[in-house]
Amino acid sequence: MKKEVQLHDRHFELFLDAEAIQAKVKALAEQIRKDYDGKPLVLLCVLSGAFRFAADLARYLNDRTEIAFIKVQSYEGMMSSGLVREQLAATVSLSGKHVLLVEDIVDTGTTIRFLVEKIYQKAPASLKIATLLLKPDALKHPVQTDYVGFEIPNHFVVGYGLDYEEQGRCLNDLYVLKA
Ligand code: 5GP
Repeated sequence: MKKEVQLHDRHFELFLDAEAIQAKVKALAEQIRKDYDGKPLVLLCVLSGAFRFAADLARYLNDRTEIAFIKVQSYEGMMSSGLVREQLAATVSLSGKHVLLVEDIVDTGTTIRFLVEKIYQKAPASLKIATLLLKPDALKHPVQTDYVGFEIPNHFVVGYGLDYEEQGRCLNDLYVLKA
């Protein structure tokens, strides 16, 4: 039987285990290191869901990497509200810097589109996007995704930073909502 967890009133079953996630994050980080070739980088983590992905990526990046945070809200429960609000502006200056935006998941693409527009207003030297998960079937907008961990079906997932009503972020594996 698959590993299961209950968060609030919902049941979730194992979708991707910690080992597979860690192997993928390491491979992405190696690609990022190679692409930036020693250039200083701002790792801009989208709170709260991307905090673990960003922390694990950071382990492999060079000593001059800056870590910054930005917070937006678009999801309510298990649904994208379609509206994005900025709750915390980028915590460092982005002007003239190479920015790597780190997201947990791209679903409809609304959040990434909003963030990309915001960040370009700060005149970075470059902007790339890393997302652990991408739901291609849910996309409503064409979005730039430079580094993608896993493409997944259009189901609600939790764990490794992603929550259901603020629970589940501490899980080391990813779980999917049971039908
Ligand atoms: P988008 O704006 O692309 O529709 O949604 C992006 C945001 O919605 C993500 O940063 C994440 O916070 C939330 N989200 C989208 N899909 C899921 C999911 O399957 N599980 C969880 N926990 N959050 C999701």
